[in-house]
Amino acid sequence: MSLDEIRDRVATAERKAERAPGSVTLIAVSKMQPDARVEAVLEAGHRVFGENRVQEAAGKWPAFRGRFDGIELHIIGPLQTNKARQAMELAQAIHSVDRPKLAATLARLAQETGACPELFIQVNTGEEAQKAGVLPVEADGFVKECRAMDLPVRGLMCIPPVEEEPSLHFALLAKIAERNGLSGLSMGMSGDFESAIALGATHVRVGSAIFGERSSKVS
Ligand SMILES: *Cc1c(COP(=O)(O)O)cnc(C)c1O
Repeated sequence: MSLDEIRDRVATAERKAERAPGSVTLIAVSKMQPDARVEAVLEAGHRVFGENRVQEAAGKWPAFRGRFDGIELHIIGPLQTNKARQAMELAQAIHSVDRPKLAATLARLAQETGACPELFIQVNTGEEAQKAGVLPVEADGFVKECRAMDLPVRGLMCIPPVEEEPSLHFALLAKIAERNGLSGLSMGMSGDFESAIALGATHVRVGSAIFGERSSKVS
């Protein structure tokens, strides 16, 4: 299990970027991982996890929460509006707010329940047809729209195109966040979290580098 190694690499990247120790939250992405591996990471004291799918998260995290205190769960994958309520009940953060209809649903549920997880707006920095997220040109308007609904927008999230240099996308996301006065930057995965930290990531989402390869691919 390479949790310790990844923690060390996060700390080193923080130092190199002259950022405060602990300023980056390491989200251990546990989607499609066997329970035994997740348990090992919990036993090692880690408490912040990410899941792609609400259904999968609902199937495994209530039991872990019964056994380990202080678990913080982040939903990082595409969210259907009909799963929004369940996502809000399960998670402390949602990283994939990507359209007005979802924002409106979250706002309505937040009003109803009096609580809302921290939200990140997903930006499709590579403008890829198959990828979720608002386009960079739509981002400022969508941030305003979410704020007007009283949603707790913490920051922005992106997943760079696989075949492109990720740092260009991280820099673009950081620029959009800065001009909108947003402090949260959810960016960087197993292959590129150090460069994301250099460019200001506050949340890195690391799966396979911590847990090993997943049992099967998820989009
Ligand atoms: C799966 C996933 C990750 C983690 O990917 P790794 O390459 O295993 O680190 C991060 N972010 C999102 C949105 C994911 O779906």
